[in-house]
Amino acid sequence: MKLIPLPAFSDNYLWLLHDAAGQALVVDPGDATPVFDALQRLGLQLRAILVTHHHPDHVGGVAALRDATGAPVYGPARETIPEPLVRLQQGEAFEMLGLRFAVLDVPGHTAGHIAFFAPEAEGGPLLFCGDTLFSGGCGRLFEGTPAQMLASLDQLAALPGATRVCCAHEYTLSNLKFARAVEPDNQALRDYQQRCEALRAEGFPTLPSTIALERAINPFLRTREAAVAAAAQRHDPAVNPADPVAVLAALRAWKNGFQ
Ligand code: ZN
Ligand code: FE
Repeated sequence: MKLIPLPAFSDNYLWLLHDAAGQALVVDPGDATPVFDALQRLGLQLRAILVTHHHPDHVGGVAALRDATGAPVYGPARETIPEPLVRLQQGEAFEMLGLRFAVLDVPGHTAGHIAFFAPEAEGGPLLFCGDTLFSGGCGRLFEGTPAQMLASLDQLAALPGATRVCCAHEYTLSNLKFARAVEPDNQALRDYQQRCEALRAEGFPTLPSTIALERAINPFLRTREAAVAAAAQRHDPAVNPADPVAVLAALRAWKNGFQ
């Protein structure tokens, strides 16, 4: 099984997964062109299209790929995405390329956002989390509340530490700059920032990350850590540091204006 991030637009990754027999799936194809190119270059047959949420940079290439390949589309039950669509929600699962994909509801960035989790993938569990969890950060709250995003991130943080986290954007360096402002004394964060800077300088993706790493460095998964809660309260004195929802809301607002 091979996992390939296809760059698209300015900072998206369209995740392509394929097996040794040349059967492939793609996650969040906002643009069909890089997917068609990869299918042709690698001699792959597209068997499924997975969609995490309705934003154009995640669904823009779906119709062209479906029309050309006949691949079924698996997506969120509660979002407006053009039919035909296999509508999925928390607790449901499906099989593709011999892998079982469990569906998680992760509202916050959008109201019906889902994630796909393949616990038995060769090389470690796989998570496709769209714009919910980024390395070092999380998605903006366009349609959901801080309480919803906290619950979604808590659910993802509880997955096995070895889970490979396939985020839909290369936002890592800017997220880590913010994370360093929140937790300047976090040594794991400092080390990770150096590794990511070296990767980006060579033009490599920083992704996939892992759940274990994100638990150690991502402030949005660390709202119950004293240092993170205290930083949120320093930024916004109205925040109760014992309330992780308030801490997350304050971090998100702080990050939105962070340069
Ligand atoms: Zn989005
Ligand atoms: Fe996006």
